[in-house]
Amino acid sequence: MKKKLMMIPGPTPVEQSILDALSKETVSHLDPELVKTLKETLQDLKTIVMTEQGQPFIIPGTGTLAMETALVNALKKGDRLLVISHGFFGDRFVEIARAYDFEVEVLASQWGKIVEVEKITQKLKEKKFSALTLTHVDTSTGVCAPVIEVGEILKKYSETLFIVDGVCAMGGIEERMDDWGIDILFAGNQKAIGVPPGLANLLFSQRALERRNSLGKIFAYYMDINRWLPIMREPGERYFATHAVNMVNALHQGLKIILEEGLEERFRRHQKFALAFQTGLEELGFSILPSQEIRANTVSTVVYPSGIEDLPFREKLYQNGVLVSEGKGVLAGKVFRLGHMGNITENEVIMTLSIIEKTLSDFNYNFKMGAGVGAAENILWNVKKGARH
Ligand code: PMP
Repeated sequence: MKKKLMMIPGPTPVEQSILDALSKETVSHLDPELVKTLKETLQDLKTIVMTEQGQPFIIPGTGTLAMETALVNALKKGDRLLVISHGFFGDRFVEIARAYDFEVEVLASQWGKIVEVEKITQKLKEKKFSALTLTHVDTSTGVCAPVIEVGEILKKYSETLFIVDGVCAMGGIEERMDDWGIDILFAGNQKAIGVPPGLANLLFSQRALERRNSLGKIFAYYMDINRWLPIMREPGERYFATHAVNMVNALHQGLKIILEEGLEERFRRHQKFALAFQTGLEELGFSILPSQEIRANTVSTVVYPSGIEDLPFREKLYQNGVLVSEGKGVLAGKVFRLGHMGNITENEVIMTLSIIEKTLSDFNYNFKMGAGVGAAENILWNVKKGARH
């Protein structure tokens, strides 16, 4: 079968050099070369989220493990958590909090919109919260949260830790952990970082490390960051649990690619690809669920024009060579989700749009062939409409 373009919001396509790193010989977790690689990887993780004081943790697991690790090290039973939810992954924090009997309150937006910052301010004035969670990009809705503004508000509330889920943002959208006052920030491997799934990558501020200490005994063993702390500070000196040796090599290479591209350049590229896709799709009669100011640069929720049915469209698109994801929850059947993050290139943007156009024509949909691709090329290469033929 011909290889498909994998344009889902994670896992994203993986560069050959990362796959090569993954398939290096498996060595001991105490091997000096591996220890050196882990040290560099921990440092590079700090660099991509621009933190000096943050303590990085690289733990085998996925994004959900990182979410749970963040909560269990920040709260104890009965503590109050404020969840700002912009969709499915915001709501997941609520489920985790309930599993541990944390007191949880939720400010949720309609899907595709954001919770107004004034509502958050109001809530924080009403009650004391031990922590607040915000999902930088909720992958179910393609909404990008106002992390900077929420961080500003929280500067007045020293008892409230700021927990940011960067799973669908880190490595693709700017995150300044120190400047924005983030206490716990995390991501998996498999989205904008562009590495196969398998690691939970977290950073804790000094304040968050102090919070962990103030909790005393917690109901976690593997997820207790105090058990990982000595080996993250001095890899190779001690043992807690075996490093995912090959995954560390892969992440090391993934972060090198990010830093070689340059953070600013990488964020700009993600912005350009998002705009090219979103403009191209709108030109074809699709619409993008969130309004322009809150659209993510990593994933788009794309609403079908009338006459195009979800399942037949996605199936045909797949046959034609592109895999996209289904809508989640209330959006099921109404949208498809398109990932545009990680190490993709302009070729994938143009190829995806042209295969979407071919698929529309398979359904005898009435549109101007080339309009989507043309609009995207205009953004990517500044090509004037009609100038490419
Ligand atoms: N948070 C967000 C924003 C996500 O998009 C996802 C996964 N799509 C998760 C958390 C959970 O990550 P994982 O599937 O790696 O457990």
